[in-house]
Amino acid sequence: MQQLLICTDLDRTLLPNGKQAESPMARERFTRLVARPEVSLAYVSGRHRASVESAIETYQLPAPDWVVGDVGSTLYHVRDNDWEASQIWEQTISGDWQGWTALDLQEILEDLADSPHLTLQETQKQSRYKLSYYLALEADLMALQEKIHQRLAEKNIAASLIYSVDEAVNVGLLDILPARATKLHAVEFLMQQQGFDYSNTVFAGDSGNDLPVLASSVPSVLVANAHRDVIDQAQAQAQEQETLDRFYLAQGNFLGMNGNYSAGILEGIAYYHPHTQAWME
Ligand SMILES: [Mg+2]
Repeated sequence: MQQLLICTDLDRTLLPNGKQAESPMARERFTRLVARPEVSLAYVSGRHRASVESAIETYQLPAPDWVVGDVGSTLYHVRDNDWEASQIWEQTISGDWQGWTALDLQEILEDLADSPHLTLQETQKQSRYKLSYYLALEADLMALQEKIHQRLAEKNIAASLIYSVDEAVNVGLLDILPARATKLHAVEFLMQQQGFDYSNTVFAGDSGNDLPVLASSVPSVLVANAHRDVIDQAQAQAQEQETLDRFYLAQGNFLGMNGNYSAGILEGIAYYHPHTQAWME
């Protein structure tokens, strides 16, 4: 039996919590698809564990097999509602920070956070290996990222800086993670650990922190409700990395649906794996 691993972002990818409409039946079809014995499901989100659990409940999402949380800095195996954090993943990423935690990094960067544009996010949005700030849209992102990288490099801290825009409230989100703790590295780690490869994995996303995966060798789909800037960046990055054959932008008109959210995910999965369309109808 050919296995398929579906990795999907939550907010505005599987969750219809953006401005655009969700096609009726799209989420039901998604649920039916992932209930197949051939299909494994991973949620890959910026949310922390409790917030993923509340999204699952609110939107009546199917139970996942794995959850990559906190933008890639946590990885859980989920079985019968029991969430087991991967120690191997935590050890893998902790080396990038030389044993420091997000609280230590917060101190190292304290004076930079004096900038009126940069505000520490709420405590519950921080985690051991994720330091998160709000960033005003008018801030000079490039200059700030350079300063942060420089400051951390002085301490031999290898970090990934991931920027997204929360369009619901028009604010930038800047996450500082161990260098290897991006969504891409977490997805590739999961694939390797579970014996999946590029021929039987599909990733779906919509925004900035999904770009590393969207532009990678992992076959990916960008849902139709994605912001124009993200579409342009994803296409440009995929072209640069010569992975355009593994990048699909949902168009709509698939099974009479609009390509937004879960309709886009399904359209992308059927694009890469046409035989799965029968499992969606
Ligand atoms: Mg999203």
